[in-house]
Amino acid sequence: MSSPSDRYQAVRTEIEDFERKYGRNRGAVRLLAASKQQSAANILAIAQAGQTHFGENYLDEAVGKIAELAPHGFEWHFIGRVQSNKTRAIAAQFDWVHSVDRLKIARRLHEQRPADLDRLNICIEVNISAEQGKGGIDVEELPAFIDALQAFERLRIRGLMALPAPSSDFEVQRASFRALARARAAIDLPDFDTLSMGTSQDFEAAIAEGATMVRIGTALFGPRS
Ligand SMILES: *Cc1c(COP(=O)(O)O)cnc(C)c1O
Repeated sequence: MSSPSDRYQAVRTEIEDFERKYGRNRGAVRLLAASKQQSAANILAIAQAGQTHFGENYLDEAVGKIAELAPHGFEWHFIGRVQSNKTRAIAAQFDWVHSVDRLKIARRLHEQRPADLDRLNICIEVNISAEQGKGGIDVEELPAFIDALQAFERLRIRGLMALPAPSSDFEVQRASFRALARARAAIDLPDFDTLSMGTSQDFEAAIAEGATMVRIGTALFGPRS
C-alpha cells in the first residue's frame, strides 16, 4: 500500500509531466482533491502532503468535515449537483461552486452569499457530451446563461466545468475537453480564467486541452467503497 504522501507526490509529478509534455506553463494546472466519501483524517493526510483545495459533492457529508478542519484554512469547492434547499449552506461554507447550471440556483447563491465573505467563485457546468439526464447546460445555451448571470454581483464567474461521459479512448477524451476549451475561448469576461475538467481517469487529456483545474479523487485517496 502506498502512503497518502506517495500518492500525492505521484499525482503532482504526473501533472507537472503533462504540463511539460503539452506545452503548458509550469503551475498552470491546479490540483483539486475530490474528497467525497473520505474522512476528515484522510483529508488531513493529503493536506499534510501539501494539498489545500478540496472538492465535495454532498452538502450533508461535507459540513462536518468542513467544521472539523476549519482551523486548517482549506479552500472548499462544491462539485456535486446543487439542490435548491441546500444553497444557503453552500453559499456560506464554500469558496467555489463548480456545478452551476440553473439560473434559479445561481440567484439563490447570489442572494444567500453572506455579506462578510468575498464573492462566491462559480463555474458553469456544461453537458459537453450532451448526455440525457446529466447535469450541465448545453454549449448553445451558454451566451444567454452568462448574460443572465451578470445580474448576480455576489458571484464571481470563473469559468466552465465538465464531467464528460467516461471513455477509455484518449482521443475521445480529448475531443470532449477540446469542446469545453473552445466554449471558454468564445467567452470574454474579466475573471473567466478557469477550465475545471479531468478526473483520475482522464486528466492527461484534460491537461492536453487546457484544463486549469483537475479534480482528482481515486488517484489521491485510493478507490472509494
Ligand atoms: C468524484 C468526482 C471527481 C473525481 O473522480 P475520480 O475518478 O475519483 O478522480 C471529479 N469530479 C466530480 C464532479 C466528481 O464527482
